[in-house]
Amino acid sequence: MRSRHVPLRTCLACGVKQPQRLLVRLVRSSPERVEIDFKRVKRGRGGYLCHSRECWQRVWDKGILERAFRSSVSAQARENLWAEYMQWQGIVAENEAP
Ligand SMILES: [Zn+2]
Repeated sequence: MRSRHVPLRTCLACGVKQPQRLLVRLVRSSPERVEIDFKRVKRGRGGYLCHSRECWQRVWDKGILERAFRSSVSAQARENLWAEYMQWQGIVAENEAP
């Protein structure tokens, strides 16, 4: 795997290009829902974000999601996404703690 070409993706918030695996894919699965697509298999308009909380907060604050998905993102969808992020961060911290 290591020697294969690594596709780069751009973080929606900070604009830094990184290998796909270092970013998280977001998918707007319905008008009311934006999901974290951990396996990068979901259909729908997507975008990538760094794992850093700063980038997630930027997305929360500004109209970045709206631009990425070219449509409005409801407050509810945003809240769900944030909850998913927090949960995921908690889970990652537990599972990957040294
Ligand atoms: Zn970023």
